[in-house]
Amino acid sequence: MLKLHNIHGGLRLEGHKAESLQRGLLQATLPERLFLPLRQHIGDHNKPQAEIGERVLKGQVIASDSALICAAVHAPTSGTISAIENYPVAHPSGKTDTCIVIDVDGDDKAVEPILADLENLTPGEKIELICRAGIVGLGGAVFPTSPKLSRGKVQGIDTLIINGVECEPYITCDDILMRFNAAEVIRATGYLQRILAPRTTYIAIEDNKPEAIAAMAQALTQHPLQNTEITPIPTIYPSGGEKQLVQILTGKEVPHGQLAFDIGLFCQNVGTCAAITRALEKDEPLISRVVTITGDNIAQPGNWEARLGTPISHLIELAGGYRHDASGHLVMGGSMMGFALSGNEVPIVKASNCIMVMREETIPTSPGYHDECIRCSKCTEVCPAQLLPQQLYWHARARAYERTQEFHLFDCIECGCCSTVCPSRIPLVQYYRAAKSEIRAAQKAQFKSDHARLRFEFREKRLQLKKQQDEERRRLKREALQKKNTRPGNEKPMADPVQAALDRVKARKKLAQED
Ligand code: SF4
Ligand code: SF4
Repeated sequence: MLKLHNIHGGLRLEGHKAESLQRGLLQATLPERLFLPLRQHIGDHNKPQAEIGERVLKGQVIASDSALICAAVHAPTSGTISAIENYPVAHPSGKTDTCIVIDVDGDDKAVEPILADLENLTPGEKIELICRAGIVGLGGAVFPTSPKLSRGKVQGIDTLIINGVECEPYITCDDILMRFNAAEVIRATGYLQRILAPRTTYIAIEDNKPEAIAAMAQALTQHPLQNTEITPIPTIYPSGGEKQLVQILTGKEVPHGQLAFDIGLFCQNVGTCAAITRALEKDEPLISRVVTITGDNIAQPGNWEARLGTPISHLIELAGGYRHDASGHLVMGGSMMGFALSGNEVPIVKASNCIMVMREETIPTSPGYHDECIRCSKCTEVCPAQLLPQQLYWHARARAYERTQEFHLFDCIECGCCSTVCPSRIPLVQYYRAAKSEIRAAQKAQFKSDHARLRFEFREKRLQLKKQQDEERRRLKREALQKKNTRPGNEKPMADPVQAALDRVKARKKLAQED
Protein backbone atom coordinates (compact mmCIF):
# COMPACT_ATOMS: atom_id res chain seq x y z
CA MET A 1 0.00 0.00 0.00
CA LEU A 2 1.42 3.36 -1.04
CA LYS A 3 2.44 5.70 1.77
CA LEU A 4 0.64 9.01 1.22
CA HIS A 5 2.01 12.44 2.08
CA ASN A 6 0.30 15.56 3.42
CA ILE A 7 -0.09 18.80 1.53
CA HIS A 8 0.18 22.20 3.09
CA GLY A 9 -3.14 23.90 3.91
CA GLY A 10 -6.33 23.05 2.07
CA LEU A 11 -9.89 22.96 3.39
CA ARG A 12 -12.51 20.37 4.25
CA LEU A 13 -15.60 21.57 2.42
CA GLU A 14 -19.24 20.56 2.16
CA GLY A 15 -19.34 18.44 -1.02
CA HIS A 16 -22.91 19.06 -2.35
CA LYS A 17 -22.33 16.07 -4.63
CA ALA A 18 -25.08 13.60 -3.70
CA GLU A 19 -27.81 15.62 -5.49
CA SER A 20 -26.35 15.13 -8.98
CA LEU A 21 -25.30 11.50 -8.48
CA GLN A 22 -28.79 10.02 -8.16
CA ARG A 23 -29.64 9.46 -11.83
CA GLY A 24 -26.58 7.81 -13.33
CA LEU A 25 -25.05 8.91 -16.63
CA LEU A 26 -27.74 10.41 -18.88
CA GLN A 27 -27.51 11.03 -22.63
CA ALA A 28 -28.50 14.55 -23.65
CA THR A 29 -30.72 14.89 -26.71
CA LEU A 30 -29.57 17.02 -29.62
CA PRO A 31 -30.66 20.66 -29.60
CA GLU A 32 -31.84 22.42 -32.79
CA ARG A 33 -28.62 24.40 -33.12
CA LEU A 34 -25.07 23.92 -31.87
CA PHE A 35 -22.70 26.84 -31.23
CA LEU A 36 -19.02 25.85 -31.51
CA PRO A 37 -16.47 28.47 -30.42
CA LEU A 38 -13.39 28.33 -32.68
CA ARG A 39 -11.08 28.09 -29.71
CA GLN A 40 -11.90 25.76 -26.81
CA HIS A 41 -8.37 25.16 -25.56
CA ILE A 42 -5.38 27.01 -24.13
CA GLY A 43 -3.25 28.05 -27.09
CA ASP A 44 -3.50 29.54 -30.54
CA HIS A 45 -6.75 30.37 -32.33
CA ASN A 46 -8.25 27.96 -34.86
CA LYS A 47 -9.40 29.05 -38.28
CA PRO A 48 -12.75 27.91 -39.75
CA GLN A 49 -12.36 24.95 -42.12
CA ALA A 50 -15.96 24.98 -43.36
CA GLU A 51 -18.20 27.60 -44.97
CA ILE A 52 -21.65 28.98 -44.34
CA GLY A 53 -24.19 26.81 -46.17
CA GLU A 54 -21.91 23.74 -46.15
CA ARG A 55 -23.34 20.42 -44.97
CA VAL A 56 -21.09 18.80 -42.37
CA LEU A 57 -21.00 15.31 -40.92
CA LYS A 58 -20.46 14.25 -37.33
CA GLY A 59 -16.72 14.10 -36.65
CA GLN A 60 -15.73 16.39 -39.55
CA VAL A 61 -13.07 19.01 -38.75
CA ILE A 62 -14.71 22.45 -38.84
CA ALA A 63 -11.91 24.54 -37.27
CA SER A 64 -8.18 23.92 -36.90
CA ASP A 65 -4.73 25.44 -37.13
CA SER A 66 -1.24 24.09 -37.69
CA ALA A 67 0.21 25.81 -34.59
CA LEU A 68 1.89 23.49 -32.07
CA ILE A 69 -0.40 24.36 -29.12
CA CYS A 70 -3.74 23.90 -30.83
CA ALA A 71 -6.71 21.51 -30.83
CA ALA A 72 -9.11 21.11 -33.75
CA VAL A 73 -12.87 21.49 -33.36
CA HIS A 74 -15.11 18.85 -34.99
CA ALA A 75 -18.79 18.88 -35.93
CA PRO A 76 -20.60 17.12 -33.03
CA THR A 77 -23.41 15.97 -35.35
CA SER A 78 -24.53 16.33 -38.95
CA GLY A 79 -26.22 19.49 -40.20
CA THR A 80 -25.70 22.70 -42.12
CA ILE A 81 -23.48 25.59 -41.11
CA SER A 82 -25.80 28.56 -40.85
CA ALA A 83 -23.46 31.22 -39.42
CA ILE A 84 -19.89 31.98 -38.38
CA GLU A 85 -20.14 34.97 -36.09
CA ASN A 86 -19.81 36.24 -32.55
CA TYR A 87 -21.93 34.68 -29.81
CA PRO A 88 -21.72 34.65 -26.00
CA VAL A 89 -19.20 32.08 -24.76
CA ALA A 90 -18.11 30.67 -21.41
CA HIS A 91 -15.60 33.25 -20.18
CA PRO A 92 -15.25 35.12 -16.85
CA SER A 93 -15.46 38.45 -18.71
CA GLY A 94 -18.80 37.51 -20.30
CA LYS A 95 -17.30 38.25 -23.73
CA THR A 96 -18.46 36.99 -27.10
CA ASP A 97 -16.27 35.00 -29.48
CA THR A 98 -16.45 33.62 -33.00
CA CYS A 99 -18.64 30.51 -33.14
CA ILE A 100 -19.57 28.14 -35.96
CA VAL A 101 -23.32 27.56 -35.81
CA ILE A 102 -24.69 24.22 -37.03
CA ASP A 103 -28.38 23.78 -37.79
CA VAL A 104 -28.81 20.17 -36.66
CA ASP A 105 -30.50 17.87 -39.23
CA GLY A 106 -31.27 15.08 -36.75
CA ASP A 107 -29.66 12.33 -38.90
CA ASP A 108 -26.50 12.28 -36.74
CA LYS A 109 -24.62 10.99 -39.81
CA ALA A 110 -20.91 10.53 -39.17
CA VAL A 111 -17.79 10.51 -41.37
CA GLU A 112 -16.51 7.00 -42.07
CA PRO A 113 -14.05 6.09 -39.27
CA ILE A 114 -10.56 4.82 -40.17
CA LEU A 115 -9.72 2.18 -37.59
CA ALA A 116 -6.04 1.87 -36.76
CA ASP A 117 -4.13 -1.31 -35.96
CA LEU A 118 -3.32 -0.19 -32.42
CA GLU A 119 -0.97 -3.08 -31.67
CA ASN A 120 1.39 -1.99 -34.43
CA LEU A 121 1.25 1.78 -33.98
CA THR A 122 4.35 3.55 -32.69
CA PRO A 123 3.96 5.95 -29.72
CA GLY A 124 4.37 8.87 -32.15
CA GLU A 125 1.53 7.56 -34.36
CA LYS A 126 -0.74 7.18 -31.32
CA ILE A 127 0.03 10.79 -30.31
CA GLU A 128 -0.81 11.86 -33.87
CA LEU A 129 -4.25 10.17 -33.64
CA ILE A 130 -4.87 11.91 -30.29
CA CYS A 131 -3.89 15.21 -31.91
CA ARG A 132 -6.28 14.66 -34.84
CA ALA A 133 -9.12 14.02 -32.37
CA GLY A 134 -8.73 17.53 -30.87
CA ILE A 135 -8.31 16.18 -27.33
CA VAL A 136 -7.53 18.61 -24.51
CA GLY A 137 -7.28 18.19 -20.72
CA LEU A 138 -10.88 17.86 -19.55
CA GLY A 139 -10.09 18.43 -15.87
CA GLY A 140 -10.29 22.18 -16.41
CA ALA A 141 -6.90 23.11 -17.89
CA VAL A 142 -7.93 22.42 -21.54
CA PHE A 143 -4.27 22.23 -22.56
CA PRO A 144 -3.97 20.22 -25.82
CA THR A 145 -3.06 16.64 -24.90
CA SER A 146 -0.83 15.72 -27.86
CA PRO A 147 1.94 18.35 -27.28
CA LYS A 148 1.86 17.46 -23.57
CA LEU A 149 2.36 13.78 -24.45
CA SER A 150 5.12 14.59 -26.96
CA ARG A 151 7.00 16.62 -24.35
CA GLY A 152 6.49 13.94 -21.70
CA LYS A 153 7.83 11.33 -24.12
CA VAL A 154 10.93 13.39 -24.90
CA GLN A 155 11.66 14.26 -21.26
CA GLY A 156 11.04 10.74 -19.94
CA ILE A 157 8.33 9.87 -17.44
CA ASP A 158 8.89 7.92 -14.26
CA THR A 159 5.34 8.01 -12.83
CA LEU A 160 1.98 8.23 -14.59
CA ILE A 161 -0.86 9.64 -12.46
CA ILE A 162 -4.47 9.20 -13.55
CA ASN A 163 -6.42 11.94 -11.78
CA GLY A 164 -9.88 10.90 -10.60
CA VAL A 165 -9.85 13.16 -7.57
CA GLU A 166 -12.49 15.78 -8.46
CA CYS A 167 -12.22 17.60 -5.14
CA GLU A 168 -14.24 20.74 -5.88
CA PRO A 169 -17.77 20.97 -4.40
CA TYR A 170 -20.79 20.33 -6.67
CA ILE A 171 -18.83 18.72 -9.57
CA THR A 172 -19.51 14.99 -10.13
CA CYS A 173 -18.84 14.44 -13.85
CA ASP A 174 -15.61 12.46 -13.27
CA ASP A 175 -17.18 10.42 -10.46
CA ILE A 176 -20.08 9.36 -12.70
CA LEU A 177 -17.73 8.72 -15.64
CA MET A 178 -15.62 6.37 -13.51
CA ARG A 179 -18.73 4.55 -12.27
CA PHE A 180 -20.14 4.01 -15.78
CA ASN A 181 -17.14 4.10 -18.15
CA ALA A 182 -14.35 2.73 -15.95
CA ALA A 183 -13.15 0.33 -18.68
CA GLU A 184 -12.48 3.22 -21.10
CA VAL A 185 -10.36 4.96 -18.46
CA ILE A 186 -8.39 1.81 -17.71
CA ARG A 187 -7.78 1.03 -21.39
CA ALA A 188 -6.56 4.61 -21.92
CA THR A 189 -4.18 4.11 -18.99
CA GLY A 190 -2.74 1.15 -20.91
CA TYR A 191 -2.32 3.27 -24.07
CA LEU A 192 -0.62 6.03 -22.07
CA GLN A 193 1.70 3.46 -20.52
CA ARG A 194 2.70 2.26 -23.99
CA ILE A 195 3.35 5.85 -25.11
CA LEU A 196 5.23 7.08 -22.04
CA ALA A 197 6.69 3.85 -20.60
CA PRO A 198 6.43 4.95 -16.94
CA ARG A 199 7.88 2.83 -14.16
CA THR A 200 4.77 3.19 -11.95
CA THR A 201 1.14 4.22 -12.45
CA TYR A 202 -1.21 5.52 -9.75
CA ILE A 203 -4.94 5.94 -10.33
CA ALA A 204 -5.86 8.46 -7.63
CA ILE A 205 -9.47 8.75 -6.45
CA GLU A 206 -10.76 10.60 -3.38
CA ASP A 207 -12.02 8.30 -0.64
CA ASN A 208 -15.50 9.90 -0.75
CA LYS A 209 -16.15 8.06 -4.05
CA PRO A 210 -16.41 4.38 -3.03
CA GLU A 211 -18.58 3.44 -6.05
CA ALA A 212 -16.04 4.91 -8.48
CA ILE A 213 -13.17 3.17 -6.68
CA ALA A 214 -15.03 -0.17 -6.88
CA ALA A 215 -15.89 0.26 -10.59
CA MET A 216 -12.30 1.18 -11.45
CA ALA A 217 -10.91 -1.72 -9.43
CA GLN A 218 -13.21 -4.13 -11.27
CA ALA A 219 -12.23 -2.70 -14.66
CA LEU A 220 -8.56 -3.04 -13.72
CA THR A 221 -9.16 -6.70 -12.86
CA GLN A 222 -10.71 -7.22 -16.31
CA HIS A 223 -7.92 -5.31 -18.11
CA PRO A 224 -4.86 -5.94 -15.91
CA LEU A 225 -2.00 -3.45 -16.21
CA GLN A 226 1.53 -3.83 -14.90
CA ASN A 227 2.71 -1.75 -11.91
CA THR A 228 -0.65 0.01 -11.68
CA GLU A 229 -2.33 0.79 -8.39
CA ILE A 230 -5.70 2.33 -7.56
CA THR A 231 -4.95 4.76 -4.74
CA PRO A 232 -7.75 6.23 -2.62
CA ILE A 233 -6.63 9.55 -1.17
CA PRO A 234 -8.10 11.63 1.69
CA THR A 235 -10.93 14.02 0.81
CA ILE A 236 -9.50 17.49 1.15
CA TYR A 237 -9.73 20.47 -1.18
CA PRO A 238 -7.73 21.04 -3.47
CA SER A 239 -6.02 17.63 -3.54
CA GLY A 240 -6.94 17.27 -7.25
CA GLY A 241 -4.62 20.13 -8.24
CA GLU A 242 -1.73 18.67 -10.23
CA LYS A 243 1.06 19.82 -7.90
CA GLN A 244 -0.91 18.88 -4.79
CA LEU A 245 -1.70 15.40 -6.13
CA VAL A 246 1.95 14.84 -7.04
CA GLN A 247 2.94 15.76 -3.49
CA ILE A 248 0.29 13.52 -1.89
CA LEU A 249 1.32 10.50 -3.96
CA THR A 250 5.08 10.90 -4.19
CA GLY A 251 6.10 13.43 -1.54
CA LYS A 252 7.83 15.41 -4.29
CA GLU A 253 7.31 19.15 -4.62
CA VAL A 254 7.12 20.51 -8.15
CA PRO A 255 9.55 23.49 -8.09
CA HIS A 256 8.28 27.05 -8.60
CA GLY A 257 7.63 27.84 -12.23
CA GLN A 258 7.80 24.18 -13.33
CA LEU A 259 5.23 21.53 -14.20
CA ALA A 260 4.90 17.93 -13.09
CA PHE A 261 6.50 16.51 -16.25
CA ASP A 262 9.58 18.65 -15.63
CA ILE A 263 10.31 16.27 -12.74
CA GLY A 264 9.28 13.06 -14.50
CA LEU A 265 5.59 12.86 -13.55
CA PHE A 266 2.67 12.90 -15.95
CA CYS A 267 -0.91 13.62 -14.79
CA GLN A 268 -3.98 12.95 -16.88
CA ASN A 269 -7.62 13.49 -15.96
CA VAL A 270 -10.01 10.51 -16.19
CA GLY A 271 -12.32 12.31 -18.65
CA THR A 272 -9.37 12.95 -20.95
CA CYS A 273 -8.51 9.24 -20.67
CA ALA A 274 -11.98 8.21 -21.85
CA ALA A 275 -11.63 10.61 -24.82
CA ILE A 276 -8.23 9.05 -25.68
CA THR A 277 -9.74 5.55 -25.76
CA ARG A 278 -12.53 6.67 -28.12
CA ALA A 279 -10.06 8.44 -30.39
CA LEU A 280 -7.71 5.43 -30.63
CA GLU A 281 -10.26 2.61 -30.73
CA LYS A 282 -13.10 4.23 -32.70
CA ASP A 283 -11.45 7.16 -34.50
CA GLU A 284 -13.94 9.33 -32.61
CA PRO A 285 -12.87 12.94 -32.06
CA LEU A 286 -13.74 14.95 -28.95
CA ILE A 287 -17.33 15.98 -29.75
CA SER A 288 -19.03 15.45 -26.39
CA ARG A 289 -18.30 15.45 -22.69
CA VAL A 290 -20.00 14.67 -19.36
CA VAL A 291 -21.43 17.79 -17.72
CA THR A 292 -22.85 18.08 -14.20
CA ILE A 293 -26.01 20.20 -14.03
CA THR A 294 -26.63 20.98 -10.38
CA GLY A 295 -27.40 23.68 -7.82
CA ASP A 296 -30.32 24.75 -5.66
CA ASN A 297 -32.29 26.25 -8.56
CA ILE A 298 -32.47 23.20 -10.85
CA ALA A 299 -35.39 20.77 -10.62
CA GLN A 300 -33.56 17.47 -11.29
CA PRO A 301 -29.77 17.68 -10.97
CA GLY A 302 -27.74 15.05 -12.82
CA ASN A 303 -24.90 14.30 -15.23
CA TRP A 304 -25.41 14.37 -18.97
CA GLU A 305 -23.15 13.32 -21.80
CA ALA A 306 -23.76 16.36 -24.01
CA ARG A 307 -22.52 17.30 -27.47
CA LEU A 308 -20.16 20.26 -27.49
CA GLY A 309 -21.96 23.40 -28.61
CA THR A 310 -25.23 22.51 -26.83
CA PRO A 311 -26.74 25.67 -25.29
CA ILE A 312 -26.98 25.46 -21.50
CA SER A 313 -30.71 26.33 -21.77
CA HIS A 314 -31.23 22.94 -23.51
CA LEU A 315 -29.58 21.06 -20.62
CA ILE A 316 -31.56 23.06 -18.06
CA GLU A 317 -34.71 21.95 -19.86
CA LEU A 318 -33.54 18.29 -19.76
CA ALA A 319 -32.94 18.72 -16.02
CA GLY A 320 -36.58 19.69 -15.47
CA GLY A 321 -36.07 23.44 -15.68
CA TYR A 322 -35.55 25.97 -12.92
CA ARG A 323 -36.75 24.95 -9.47
CA HIS A 324 -37.56 28.50 -8.40
CA ASP A 325 -37.24 31.16 -11.07
CA ALA A 326 -35.06 31.86 -14.05
CA SER A 327 -33.52 35.01 -12.60
CA GLY A 328 -30.84 33.08 -10.69
CA HIS A 329 -27.14 32.73 -11.31
CA LEU A 330 -25.34 30.35 -13.67
CA VAL A 331 -21.79 29.38 -12.78
CA MET A 332 -19.43 27.25 -14.87
CA GLY A 333 -17.23 25.07 -12.65
CA GLY A 334 -17.67 24.47 -8.94
CA SER A 335 -18.31 26.77 -6.03
CA MET A 336 -14.59 27.50 -5.43
CA MET A 337 -13.09 28.05 -8.87
CA GLY A 338 -16.16 28.55 -11.05
CA PHE A 339 -17.10 31.82 -12.74
CA ALA A 340 -20.46 33.44 -13.51
CA LEU A 341 -21.90 33.02 -17.00
CA SER A 342 -23.54 35.82 -18.94
CA GLY A 343 -26.70 33.80 -19.73
CA ASN A 344 -28.20 30.40 -20.48
CA GLU A 345 -27.51 30.61 -24.26
CA VAL A 346 -23.79 30.09 -23.62
CA PRO A 347 -22.78 26.72 -25.18
CA ILE A 348 -21.08 23.72 -23.57
CA VAL A 349 -17.40 23.62 -24.53
CA LYS A 350 -14.51 21.23 -23.87
CA ALA A 351 -13.88 22.96 -20.49
CA SER A 352 -17.51 22.71 -19.23
CA ASN A 353 -17.33 20.20 -16.40
CA CYS A 354 -20.20 21.60 -14.34
CA ILE A 355 -22.97 24.18 -14.60
CA MET A 356 -24.26 25.39 -11.25
CA VAL A 357 -27.79 26.78 -11.43
CA MET A 358 -28.16 28.80 -8.25
CA ARG A 359 -30.79 30.98 -6.63
CA GLU A 360 -30.00 34.66 -6.42
CA GLU A 361 -29.94 34.64 -2.62
CA THR A 362 -27.53 31.66 -2.38
CA ILE A 363 -24.72 33.46 -4.18
CA PRO A 364 -23.22 36.01 -1.81
CA THR A 365 -23.20 39.28 -3.69
CA SER A 366 -20.12 41.40 -3.30
CA PRO A 367 -20.88 44.50 -1.23
CA GLY A 368 -18.35 46.32 -3.43
CA TYR A 369 -16.07 46.95 -0.46
CA HIS A 370 -14.17 44.88 2.07
CA ASP A 371 -12.41 45.44 5.35
CA GLU A 372 -8.70 46.04 5.57
CA CYS A 373 -6.27 43.14 6.00
CA ILE A 374 -5.71 42.53 9.72
CA ARG A 375 -2.59 40.39 9.09
CA CYS A 376 -4.12 37.36 10.76
CA SER A 377 -2.20 34.93 8.45
CA LYS A 378 -5.20 32.63 8.05
CA CYS A 379 -4.76 32.83 4.27
CA THR A 380 -1.15 31.65 4.56
CA GLU A 381 -2.16 28.71 6.75
CA VAL A 382 -4.59 27.34 4.14
CA CYS A 383 -2.66 28.10 0.93
CA PRO A 384 -1.86 24.72 -0.70
CA ALA A 385 0.75 26.35 -2.94
CA GLN A 386 2.63 27.60 0.13
CA LEU A 387 2.43 31.21 -1.01
CA LEU A 388 2.01 34.36 1.06
CA PRO A 389 -1.47 35.44 -0.07
CA GLN A 390 -1.55 38.67 1.98
CA GLN A 391 1.77 39.81 0.43
CA LEU A 392 0.45 38.96 -3.00
CA TYR A 393 -2.66 40.96 -2.18
CA TRP A 394 -0.70 44.07 -1.12
CA HIS A 395 1.42 44.03 -4.25
CA ALA A 396 -1.47 43.16 -6.61
CA ARG A 397 -3.55 45.96 -5.11
CA ALA A 398 -0.66 48.41 -5.52
CA ARG A 399 -0.13 47.09 -9.07
CA ALA A 400 3.47 46.33 -8.11
CA TYR A 401 3.49 43.43 -10.54
CA GLU A 402 7.21 42.74 -10.39
CA ARG A 403 6.85 42.22 -6.65
CA THR A 404 3.87 39.84 -7.19
CA GLN A 405 6.09 37.74 -9.43
CA GLU A 406 8.83 37.71 -6.81
CA PHE A 407 6.17 36.22 -4.52
CA HIS A 408 5.38 33.56 -7.20
CA LEU A 409 1.99 34.87 -8.30
CA PHE A 410 1.90 32.42 -11.20
CA ASP A 411 2.14 29.45 -8.82
CA CYS A 412 -1.27 30.47 -7.42
CA ILE A 413 -3.77 27.85 -8.62
CA GLU A 414 -6.70 30.19 -7.86
CA CYS A 415 -8.21 27.58 -5.55
CA GLY A 416 -9.95 30.25 -3.46
CA CYS A 417 -8.98 28.79 -0.06
CA CYS A 418 -7.48 32.13 1.04
CA SER A 419 -10.58 34.14 0.06
CA THR A 420 -12.81 31.61 1.84
CA VAL A 421 -11.08 31.99 5.22
CA CYS A 422 -10.29 35.71 5.08
CA PRO A 423 -12.14 37.39 7.99
CA SER A 424 -11.94 40.73 6.16
CA ARG A 425 -13.80 39.18 3.21
CA ILE A 426 -11.15 40.38 0.78
CA PRO A 427 -11.77 38.83 -2.66
CA LEU A 428 -8.11 37.82 -2.83
CA VAL A 429 -8.41 35.56 -5.89
CA GLN A 430 -9.99 38.37 -7.88
CA TYR A 431 -6.95 40.54 -7.15
CA TYR A 432 -4.64 37.71 -8.29
CA ARG A 433 -6.63 37.05 -11.47
CA ALA A 434 -6.63 40.74 -12.37
CA ALA A 435 -2.87 40.96 -11.72
CA LYS A 436 -2.16 37.86 -13.80
CA SER A 437 -4.24 39.07 -16.70
CA GLU A 438 -2.56 42.53 -16.66
CA ILE A 439 0.89 40.93 -16.52
CA ARG A 440 0.01 38.61 -19.43
CA ALA A 441 -1.38 41.55 -21.44
CA ALA A 442 1.80 43.55 -20.74
CA GLN A 443 3.99 40.56 -21.73
CA LYS A 444 1.99 40.15 -24.93
CA ALA A 445 2.36 43.86 -25.76
CA GLN A 446 6.07 43.67 -24.92
CA PHE A 447 6.47 40.63 -27.17
CA LYS A 448 4.71 42.46 -30.00
CA SER A 449 6.84 45.57 -29.60
CA ASP A 450 10.06 43.50 -29.34
CA HIS A 451 9.00 41.66 -32.48
CA ALA A 452 8.30 44.95 -34.30
CA ARG A 453 11.67 46.41 -33.14
CA LEU A 454 13.53 43.31 -34.31
CA ARG A 455 11.84 43.49 -37.70
CA PHE A 456 12.74 47.21 -37.99
CA GLU A 457 16.37 46.57 -37.03
CA PHE A 458 16.57 43.68 -39.46
CA ARG A 459 15.17 45.88 -42.28
CA GLU A 460 17.64 48.67 -41.48
CA LYS A 461 20.54 46.20 -41.56
CA ARG A 462 19.29 44.75 -44.83
CA LEU A 463 19.06 48.19 -46.45
CA GLN A 464 22.50 49.16 -45.17
CA LEU A 465 23.99 45.96 -46.55
CA LYS A 466 22.34 46.57 -49.91
CA LYS A 467 23.76 50.12 -49.97
CA GLN A 468 27.24 48.80 -49.21
CA GLN A 469 26.92 46.12 -51.91
CA ASP A 470 25.74 48.72 -54.48
CA GLU A 471 28.65 51.00 -53.63
CA GLU A 472 31.08 48.12 -53.91
CA ARG A 473 29.61 47.14 -57.28
CA ARG A 474 30.00 50.72 -58.56
CA ARG A 475 33.57 50.90 -57.28
CA LEU A 476 34.50 47.65 -59.03
CA LYS A 477 32.88 48.86 -62.25
CA ARG A 478 34.83 52.14 -62.11
CA GLU A 479 38.08 50.28 -61.49
CA ALA A 480 37.39 47.87 -64.36
CA LEU A 481 36.69 50.79 -66.69
CA GLN A 482 39.86 52.58 -65.66
CA LYS A 483 41.89 49.39 -66.19
CA LYS A 484 40.41 48.99 -69.66
CA ASN A 485 41.36 52.55 -70.62
CA THR A 486 44.96 52.18 -69.48
CA ARG A 487 45.68 49.06 -71.58
CA PRO A 488 49.03 49.10 -73.48
CA GLY A 489 48.52 50.98 -76.75
CA ASN A 490 45.71 52.97 -75.24
CA GLU A 491 47.74 54.80 -72.60
CA LYS A 492 45.61 57.93 -72.73
CA PRO A 493 43.13 57.26 -69.96
CA MET A 494 39.55 57.76 -70.98
CA ALA A 495 37.81 60.33 -68.82
CA ASP A 496 35.56 59.08 -66.09
CA PRO A 497 32.09 59.22 -67.81
CA VAL A 498 30.43 60.63 -64.70
CA GLN A 499 33.13 63.26 -64.30
CA ALA A 500 32.89 64.02 -68.03
CA ALA A 501 29.12 64.56 -67.73
CA LEU A 502 29.64 66.86 -64.74
CA ASP A 503 32.29 68.81 -66.69
CA ARG A 504 29.90 69.22 -69.65
CA VAL A 505 27.15 70.57 -67.37
CA LYS A 506 29.67 72.98 -65.77
CA ALA A 507 30.83 74.18 -69.20
CA ARG A 508 27.23 74.72 -70.40
CA LYS A 509 26.47 76.76 -67.27
CA LYS A 510 29.61 78.91 -67.84
CA LEU A 511 28.66 79.55 -71.47
CA ALA A 512 25.16 80.56 -70.46
CA GLN A 513 26.58 83.03 -67.90
CA GLU A 514 28.92 84.55 -70.54
CA ASP A 515 26.02 85.07 -72.97
S1 SF4 B 1 -6.74 36.21 5.79
FE1 SF4 B 1 -7.33 38.23 5.04
S2 SF4 B 1 -7.07 39.56 6.78
FE2 SF4 B 1 -5.98 37.67 7.28
S3 SF4 B 1 -3.85 38.09 6.60
FE3 SF4 B 1 -4.92 37.11 4.90
S4 SF4 B 1 -5.65 38.81 3.65
FE4 SF4 B 1 -5.17 39.64 5.66
S1 SF4 C 1 -5.96 31.12 -4.39
FE1 SF4 C 1 -3.75 31.12 -4.68
S2 SF4 C 1 -2.95 32.28 -2.98
FE2 SF4 C 1 -5.07 31.71 -2.46
S3 SF4 C 1 -4.88 29.82 -1.33
FE3 SF4 C 1 -5.18 29.25 -3.45
S4 SF4 C 1 -3.12 29.01 -4.29
FE4 SF4 C 1 -2.93 30.14 -2.36
